[in-house]
Amino acid sequence: MSGGERDELYERLRVYEGQPAATAGVGRDPVNEPMIRHWCEAMGHPVPPDGSAPQTMLQVWTMGGLAGHPADSGRSDTYDALLGALDAAGCTSVVATDCEQEYPRALRPGDRITFDAVIESVSTRKATKLGTGYFITTRMDVRAGDQLAGRHRFRILKYKGRGRPKEKRPRPVVNRDNAGFWAGVAEHRLLIQRCTRCATLRFPWLPGCNACGGQEWDTVEAAGHGTVYSYVVMHHPPFPAFDPPYAVALIELAEGVRIISNITGVPYDKVRIGMPVQLEFLRVEDEELELPVFRGVDA
Ligand code: ZN
Repeated sequence: MSGGERDELYERLRVYEGQPAATAGVGRDPVNEPMIRHWCEAMGHPVPPDGSAPQTMLQVWTMGGLAGHPADSGRSDTYDALLGALDAAGCTSVVATDCEQEYPRALRPGDRITFDAVIESVSTRKATKLGTGYFITTRMDVRAGDQLAGRHRFRILKYKGRGRPKEKRPRPVVNRDNAGFWAGVAEHRLLIQRCTRCATLRFPWLPGCNACGGQEWDTVEAAGHGTVYSYVVMHHPPFPAFDPPYAVALIELAEGVRIISNITGVPYDKVRIGMPVQLEFLRVEDEELELPVFRGVDA
């Protein structure tokens, strides 16, 4: 944006300043000795000799818990609307940037907690290393009875991410037992181990024969024809370097052994059990890595 140009999004966001982020929130539990003791153990903090709660426990008394506690969180529709406006503008990423607390009054076992929060400020658009977005500061006032016990100021950056650099696929682990397989791949040959005692083929590569226990072996080169024996379509969880959804297939080779691989040339939702496939070699990531994969072929 050039200087002086109006930031229309900011003009809409600043309207939220001073509006409630949470009203009439209620602490899930009263301040109590067991939570103080557990927190001190977990944090390596001495238990205060006067029995009061460590001041930095402040947020413990206002959080909803893992299961959430929406009825008592007091969270306002206004705060959700502010975040929603940022989401709609593409600022979908969020990071907490800083937190300030004040402790006007010590909390002691038996104190019952209530809290309110206000959207204290929304910044103008800022360019950061993470991306461009807006800082939102909320201030929560925590009360015990009618006394202000703590003040918690919390700032987030809601921003449009730059996108992460492309991550690399995991590298194969090449060891003494499978080095011959990867040497074959380098020559565009898919090698299957064969027991020299009983002639049983085996894949993936193993030090010994499952059929007879023999440890001597040679190899045969797969012709490259196969069919999809089974498959799954990965949607979740996302994994670096992979772009879901994608199919992961168990291919039955014409020789009778099976190999897990990717299917190429066929959309993930068109992969079918029994589909004929043909071996090919895929170079990925600037030719650093080569993998045997299987291209769907018309039956
Ligand atoms: Zn054998």
